[in-house]
Amino acid sequence: MLDWKQDPHRRYNPLTHEWVLVSPHRTQRPWQGQMEETAAAAQPEYDPTCYLCPGNSRAGGVRNPPYASTFVFDNDFAALKPDTGVDRFERGGLLLAEAEPGICRVVCFSPRHNLTMANMDLDALRLVVDTWVDQFGDLGARPFINYVQIFENRGAMMGASNPHPHCQIWSSRSVPNEVTKEQVSQQDWREDRGACLLCEYLRLERASRERLVEENESFVALVPFWAVWPFEIMLIAKRHMTGIDRLNPTERSGLAGILKSVTGRYDRLFKVSFPYSFGFHQRPTDGLTHDEWHLHAHFFPPLLRSATVRKFLVGYEMLATPQRDIAAETAAERLRQV
Ligand SMILES: [Zn+2]
Ligand SMILES: [Zn+2]
Ligand SMILES: [Zn+2]
Repeated sequence: MLDWKQDPHRRYNPLTHEWVLVSPHRTQRPWQGQMEETAAAAQPEYDPTCYLCPGNSRAGGVRNPPYASTFVFDNDFAALKPDTGVDRFERGGLLLAEAEPGICRVVCFSPRHNLTMANMDLDALRLVVDTWVDQFGDLGARPFINYVQIFENRGAMMGASNPHPHCQIWSSRSVPNEVTKEQVSQQDWREDRGACLLCEYLRLERASRERLVEENESFVALVPFWAVWPFEIMLIAKRHMTGIDRLNPTERSGLAGILKSVTGRYDRLFKVSFPYSFGFHQRPTDGLTHDEWHLHAHFFPPLLRSATVRKFLVGYEMLATPQRDIAAETAAERLRQV
């Protein structure tokens, strides 16, 4: 019989229909690869050179207001623009292009340059949640916006250009690739079984508790069975809901609470301000009800065995299948302990 925490095997992700290769025995190999620099020295509360701090000017000369809580503005270097017209290009079924209008925004979580979700207080984080809900409503209500992607890149290792606590919202006419994969799976599951894929998954995970990191009254944090990144976490709403706008006031505070708690665990794991990409998955804003969608969020952090050794998804991952070095159960256990 296989030892699922030690022996090489592959695991299936029912949300994307993709497999991940799990090879836990590999963590015993000596590491001679790249070591990352550890995080820079402590940041000041206000940085006169930061383009996100209150009162500072951004590229193009716009000056930030002296904001006191959250602050939202249209991205000065937006990947998508609202005034992009409608057009389509096609040759022989092989060359295909479509115009993609959209709106990109930046949300500063706090006027304080040196905070992170882990060390913001709960009231301030609740305001961030409220801002996400407002933005989802505002952007999603526009006829040409069919998906609103809220995401945060944290840390230079993940390409974040600025340590000031902030996230981005890219909203687009089309539904993005990863969201489309998850949507098709949730739709199929609902049609085939008359149930919600993630409600059923949550039931399994809460019964076994092997991969649970923690839970509060509104959300569960777990290392998914099919995790690719070493300490990947999914936050799943306990109640079935299609989007962040369906959270009641208690659940909004519950989301703020679990975000603070999970990012705190990450920081304690390797005693470093933990880098990650984080973001929500929820229903498209195309006017349909999308009862198949179950609100959740993903944390994809790259660190593998210390503050300086990260996981790269290259070679085999790019050409074949993603591979991970520690079992999801082991990762969950380590995150529970910090
Ligand atoms: Zn700043
Ligand atoms: Zn559900
Ligand atoms: Zn997802």
